[in-house]
Amino acid sequence: MQTPDILILLEEIVEKVWRLEAFLTEIESISVEEDKELIQFYRSQIRGLKQRLEDPITEIREGQEDFREYLRTYFDVCSHFQTMHQQFWLFVSLPKVYPEVYTFVHSLFPRNQFEDVEPTLVYCPIYNFGEANAIDQFSKLGIFLDKGAGDRVILLLPYVDFRNPMMWTALAHEMGHAIEKDKGIVGSILPELPGRKELEPLRRWLKEFCADHIALRLMGPAYLISFISYIISLHPYFYVPTLTHPQPHSRIEYMRTYLERNCLFHPKAQHYYELFQELTAFYKVSKFDLQQLPTEITSPCPTCKYEYKMKLPESLKRFPELIHQLNEQVNSISFPDVCGTEDLRRAEKLAEDLDHGFFISSYKETTMGEIRHHLNELLTQNTPGQANREEIYSVLKLIEDKPNKVSQIINAGWIQKINRQIDKFQKIFEEDDSILEEKFNTFGNYLESISYNIQKSIETSKIHSLFAPGEKQ
Ligand SMILES: [Zn+2]
Repeated sequence: MQTPDILILLEEIVEKVWRLEAFLTEIESISVEEDKELIQFYRSQIRGLKQRLEDPITEIREGQEDFREYLRTYFDVCSHFQTMHQQFWLFVSLPKVYPEVYTFVHSLFPRNQFEDVEPTLVYCPIYNFGEANAIDQFSKLGIFLDKGAGDRVILLLPYVDFRNPMMWTALAHEMGHAIEKDKGIVGSILPELPGRKELEPLRRWLKEFCADHIALRLMGPAYLISFISYIISLHPYFYVPTLTHPQPHSRIEYMRTYLERNCLFHPKAQHYYELFQELTAFYKVSKFDLQQLPTEITSPCPTCKYEYKMKLPESLKRFPELIHQLNEQVNSISFPDVCGTEDLRRAEKLAEDLDHGFFISSYKETTMGEIRHHLNELLTQNTPGQANREEIYSVLKLIEDKPNKVSQIINAGWIQKINRQIDKFQKIFEEDDSILEEKFNTFGNYLESISYNIQKSIETSKIHSLFAPGEKQ
């Protein structure tokens, strides 16, 4: 059996701890007196998490391979990270959600086309993304509003991903829920019947696949990779089907099939796909076949000897037959930008630019060499002053930069991360002569600059597209 790639896991958790610290620093910059003590406490907890990671990092460097122990440390730190994330609400001062998050969502779901699902964003204390509807929320409190009175979709963003555009792909999934609800997709193939509560899990599962499908159409492999990046922050014990969500295995296989069918399964996605497979194999997580779903599942708890038991309703057996009808409906929704093979080719080139520290808001399809060649041709074919306006403009057009799509930018971010970030991580943490805190700082500064460039590229490409007629975003 292949062992999970511990280096990717360590890089993932070091990044998470750094993002926890970055959010705390942001709080500190606007904090009030009441927050001071809590900030100190948080800082000491973060120091503790870093120290826990020191041993596996050092030992891997020295060639030791106690995978069971490293994985235990990894999931322990993940669980501590989630607990700390959940307690951020205790701070009086919390930074506002960055405007770039809105730019991201609006680029994928333009207001003029998706007027009924205009979102607002709030933080989610649990390390997770989510979607809620203002009318539903109010009606749960016994306050009933009509549709015109505030049918606002509320997107939930985890605190730590406030400046992490690569994880914002999950917001495309959450907006997918809002669109599904608005268009009544699941309701049309499985109508809500009073007294048929056993159909509810089936309905919930269809909704999840529908939202995944929408996110995949818009973001391509970046959505699959970010989904796995999120899933592996949870212990494999949790990788089971529930009454609200299908098993992650089923979702991941479904995404992989979609991407492969559309020639979008980027080789870089394979790394994360394999990591998930290795983790589930290591922890012997049973994979349930959707065609032969059991009516009861059990899963052993990693910390105590009890087994988690869950009954699944018979109705879920209808899932495979209904999913086809669902796919047809999702494919018929028209989106201004669907991620295609050409976008991935562009992302591949943009990943290199990102790695060189450039903004990737726009792209020139012609190289400087080609432009020079065309200019020379223009000059040799014409005596000075004789080239006509059209000829000159045809060359000038080659110089023009075209704004990049959000899916191109985010996929470039993931490609860059898999190409370089893990090596960078290894290199920084391999240095013998610097202390752990310094290594975290160096790696943090690197992450900060990449995230900043992606975030600003999203913003700038949107502004660019407003000024570039015919280059809709
Ligand atoms: Zn969902």
